[in-house]
Amino acid sequence: MIRVTENLRKIRDLLAKAAVDAGREADSVRLVAVSKKQPLSSVLEAAAAGQRDFGENQAIEGIEKINAVADDALIWHFIGHLQTNKTRVVAEHFHWVHSVDRLKTATRLSQQRPKTLGDLNICLQVNVDAEESKSGAPIDAVRDLARRVVDLPGLRLRGLMCLPAIRHEFAAQRIPFARLRRLAEELRADGIATDTLSMGMSDDFRAAIFEGATIVRVGTAIFGPRNRL
Ligand SMILES: *Cc1c(COP(=O)(O)O)cnc(C)c1O
Repeated sequence: MIRVTENLRKIRDLLAKAAVDAGREADSVRLVAVSKKQPLSSVLEAAAAGQRDFGENQAIEGIEKINAVADDALIWHFIGHLQTNKTRVVAEHFHWVHSVDRLKTATRLSQQRPKTLGDLNICLQVNVDAEESKSGAPIDAVRDLARRVVDLPGLRLRGLMCLPAIRHEFAAQRIPFARLRRLAEELRADGIATDTLSMGMSDDFRAAIFEGATIVRVGTAIFGPRNRL
């Protein structure tokens, strides 16, 4: 039995504690509950416990959930690799996309975002560890990408996102998150002010919060192992 309500309360306490320990406001970190490959019942339980932000990494699975839950108070974050043929459905259903790593994807989202829905919130995903197998823009391509994305209509560039290689030590976990924070500072120096650092998951959110995460994306620590469907 996975106790979603209890897990959520624990995670919220840990986020607040990490923020305070890092010298930040207790409520300065937004929790995205990553519900990918979790049953609808878990999403409903989390929503009933007051959780508002949910993350999905596959377009079709995500949209099925969005439609099934049909709760306008919820905010849906697309966090997975975005294929070109899925940009339209994502632009039509989600409130945030955290995983934009190419101008082509951003341009399509810009063109396909329905005007009635307002701006789509965008984070640029950065391949902070320069891993061959990972999505994300290379670090040295981010400034140019940001300069182009910031001008696209229908989108609002909110910040940067990363999914670093797994590290187990707290000090080591901070390194890639610090890299993302510095990159956001460079953007700011270029005149591109953003308000979001989307970084940290179940096993490393404390390190991310110490480096300034404003959004953490937590799945298993809330919902338990995936694929229990
Ligand atoms: C699955 C996923 C998460 C959540 O990972 P957990 O380890 O289950 O907390 C966060 N971010 C992204 C991009 C993911 O794909």
